[in-house]
Amino acid sequence: MTDFDATRALFDLPEGIVYLDGNSLGPLPRASRERVAREVAQSWGTLLIRGWNEAGWMDLPQVVGDKIGRLVGAPAGSVVAGDSTSVNLFKALTAALSLSGERKVVLSDSGNFPTDLYVAQQALAALGRGHDLKIVAPEAVEGAIDETVAVLMLTQVDYRTGRLHDMAALTAKAQAAGAVTVWDLAHSAGALPVDLAGAGADFAIGCGYKYLNGGPGAPAFIYVRPGLADRVSPALAGWMGHAAPFAFDLGYAPAEGVNRMRVGTPPILSMASLDAALDVWDGVSMADLRTRSIELSETFIAEVEARCPQLTLASPRDPERRGSQVSFAFPEGYAAMQAAIANGVVGDFRAPDIMRFGFTPLYVGRADVVRAAETLERVMGERLWDRPEFKQRAKVT
Ligand SMILES: *Cc1c(COP(=O)(O)O)cnc(C)c1O
Repeated sequence: MTDFDATRALFDLPEGIVYLDGNSLGPLPRASRERVAREVAQSWGTLLIRGWNEAGWMDLPQVVGDKIGRLVGAPAGSVVAGDSTSVNLFKALTAALSLSGERKVVLSDSGNFPTDLYVAQQALAALGRGHDLKIVAPEAVEGAIDETVAVLMLTQVDYRTGRLHDMAALTAKAQAAGAVTVWDLAHSAGALPVDLAGAGADFAIGCGYKYLNGGPGAPAFIYVRPGLADRVSPALAGWMGHAAPFAFDLGYAPAEGVNRMRVGTPPILSMASLDAALDVWDGVSMADLRTRSIELSETFIAEVEARCPQLTLASPRDPERRGSQVSFAFPEGYAAMQAAIANGVVGDFRAPDIMRFGFTPLYVGRADVVRAAETLERVMGERLWDRPEFKQRAKVT
């Protein structure tokens, strides 16, 4: 059994806070604090340019990629870390379209995160090959997969509701129809067991700063199915994805495999933080994590529903159909969340009315969940959400 008290001790959590927002920004692993300080003082500070060779900076995107790969069922050498999730989606989608012939439809759903849809809209416009982005309701995706679809582009876990797509079934259906698949694992990687290889997914991307705890703006990652990677022609090419970056050839020649998806110089300090954060997962069983995540979220739903009749569950009730977050709808959700935060329970708000709570067993336990429900009961019972100070909207909600 995974020892979740031991993993909790690996984080620097502020006193007195119940942190249910690790799905948005993971907390600080002690190892990341030390690693970044060391990387600054020793590697950058003393090795200077030699750090690229002697501190292992050049290989860090692959080293970090392999650590992430282990959490998402990707074989060694099939994942690289770098860029943001948005940029990686551009790379994955354009690469997928380079493989998908004359078909014109990119199929996605209305539960997708807006950045994914924005990237897709503008990528299709820039390609100028007449592709259409077709957006259907999440429940209608399966029925919309047919011989017109070039690429199925989905986020596995809905950022608002936590609704979980069946990646294996949808991938199989898409591939049987001749489509290429791109999965966004932003709310999956580190949240639940993912089996990219088992599902046969073609491309995947995901986020380094949510459940992987890499720190604000940490590098994201990209996966390409090994059998496919050498056939991919990247639209966003750079010297770090070249077969021989230091040959300085004038012409582009892609590196082998997933390495061709690298673009420019990696952000080493941020990458080092993520690298150290990923060691927290040593000895963690994803199956244990999932069991604990479901226990926590089921307890939370039961406690909140018993105490707060004002709140409506906005997540699937069946835990097998949820990721690792639970959402409740409440018309004054923004103010209610601000009141909860002022009382030490940190979640977040997603327009128009969603109060969102992430369950991260690495550092959240049952006592936290009960305290969070008690706090919400006070916020509702004492109408704390009605106070003007909680209604001032900040830039980030
Ligand atoms: C968080 C998230 C992103 C974030 O993208 P950035 O480029 O890191 O800002 C993208 N897609 C999904 C589905 C997300 O949940």
